[in-house]
Amino acid sequence: MSSTIKAGGLVSARSCSRLNAASGSSSKKRTSEHLDAGQSDSAQKVAKVHPFFAKRVDSPQTGAFRWLDPLGPSRSCLHGINLSPRAAVKVAAFDLDGTLIKSEFGNKGSPTSPSWEWWRNLIPTKLKEVYDSGYSILIISNQALKPQALKTWKLKITSIAAALPDVPFRLFAATSKDNYRKPMPGMWLELERIFREEGVDIDKGASFFVGDAAGRLYAGRKSDFSSTDRKWALNIGITFYTPEEYFLKLPPHTSYSLPGFHVLSLPELPQVMPTSTPLLPSPPRQEIVLFVGYPSLGKTSFYRRHFQPAGYTHINQDTLKTRDKCVKAMREALRQDKSCVIDNTNRDAATRKFYVDVAKQLNIPIRCFLFTGSFELAWHNNLYRTYNLPPSVAAQEPKRELVPSIAYTGFRNNYEEPKLEEGFDEIKKVNWVFSGTEEEKNYWSMWLQLDGK
Ligand SMILES: [Mg+2]
Repeated sequence: MSSTIKAGGLVSARSCSRLNAASGSSSKKRTSEHLDAGQSDSAQKVAKVHPFFAKRVDSPQTGAFRWLDPLGPSRSCLHGINLSPRAAVKVAAFDLDGTLIKSEFGNKGSPTSPSWEWWRNLIPTKLKEVYDSGYSILIISNQALKPQALKTWKLKITSIAAALPDVPFRLFAATSKDNYRKPMPGMWLELERIFREEGVDIDKGASFFVGDAAGRLYAGRKSDFSSTDRKWALNIGITFYTPEEYFLKLPPHTSYSLPGFHVLSLPELPQVMPTSTPLLPSPPRQEIVLFVGYPSLGKTSFYRRHFQPAGYTHINQDTLKTRDKCVKAMREALRQDKSCVIDNTNRDAATRKFYVDVAKQLNIPIRCFLFTGSFELAWHNNLYRTYNLPPSVAAQEPKRELVPSIAYTGFRNNYEEPKLEEGFDEIKKVNWVFSGTEEEKNYWSMWLQLDGK
């Protein structure tokens, strides 16, 4: 058995040299570095005669690797299996580039014969070991490739799989900026779903993920380019290792940073301030309430919770399309002696003046409710609502599109803080407080920014 494993390792090295030769680049040095020290000539002979290598390695379906139907509503998550991977309660998950293979080899070779190299020689042996000790092996990767490059990349995967002829594994690759892209947990959720269909519940406590995007900081040399892998493991709640820790048994590198927005950074504040005045006028009187704040800060939910039950008319430009129509609808509601809420972002004084002027003209009080959440929080909520609702919740709701980033940057660039001098009778601040189930809160509390945004 061990000679087979070694042959597997050697074969991969040889396939690499063969591919490099095919693409015209010199590979002698790489190949010699690649061979594990101590591997015998006889093992190499095994590799030479391995029937698998009688075939060319750039055939799309070489060996036992198969591409299955892509996953997701826009089929953005590629899905493939090598041999027949088992559904085990223990999952060993691995990032691909910079973890199992060297990432700098990404653009070498030719389109029909891409070259690659193991991160370290021991990788195939290690993968076989972990498989033999009862784990399911999952390989995941973020890819953002144009169609032609993606084709080449798929050939590379076939070639890597061919170098693991006795290691069944499943592979997911996220090709869009959506719920599948690390650090979003989508690829893991698909694995859980697939295993559940086979009657297996994954034991997260016994599972782990190995990745090189760990946010490691080094004095005097370049830090990790990203912390996405560490965030992915944190989001899912499984143990994380860097390739150095897992494969080379080096001690953990304790200096790392996780840049980007996390909800833990939010201060705990009362939802509405000041608390000394009532949220609704007491006794009730006719009024206009004008909201100010980024999209995705819960303005409409706040209306539904507090103002709708009190009979306030909802005026919203997303629904009515133009400001003229909003002003007209407000006048109409006021004429019927109703109160109303202007549920728009209302970012500057000039925009707010359209409503304040009507209030002055009709001598109706107008209050401003300023939703204080930051740009980062608003964008986070947008990502959460679009991509990361708990699966059971998402299944109940219509598919939602991401609000484009210009809605947030436009607000930020043109924002003027509302002032009493504009004509408001009061300005209240509404601080973000998450409302939802414990499960929803867990999903909302994950790292969600994609590629630093
Ligand atoms: Mg990587």
